[in-house]
Amino acid sequence: MDNATLEELKERLLSLKQEITFRIKKNNEKVNNIQVKGDEGDFSNAVYSREILYDLIENDRNHLKDIEEALYDIEKGTYGKCHRCGKEIEIDRMKAKPTAKYCIRCREIVESGR
Ligand SMILES: [Zn+2]
Repeated sequence: MDNATLEELKERLLSLKQEITFRIKKNNEKVNNIQVKGDEGDFSNAVYSREILYDLIENDRNHLKDIEEALYDIEKGTYGKCHRCGKEIEIDRMKAKPTAKYCIRCREIVESGR
């Protein structure tokens, strides 16, 4: 990977990190502001909204973890290399998904193993 592309992807990862950190904070505030009281209908609505927010937060946390791993890889100088076979990941793939950890071939293997 050339330096310009690396810098570009690093910038994207950093702004994504900021964006997601902010969103997690906002969603946490929303969870805290949900009033679980009132009649039964209000109550299940509140529980339902909270479930959705928890899911969003959970997704964002996982995404954040991937971003932090990617940033750590950049520091180590191993960014853009497949975590399984060690080959360089296709550059188009990295641009489409800067947190990609596996090349297309390995991703299929890893995912089918689940
Ligand atoms: Zn691979």
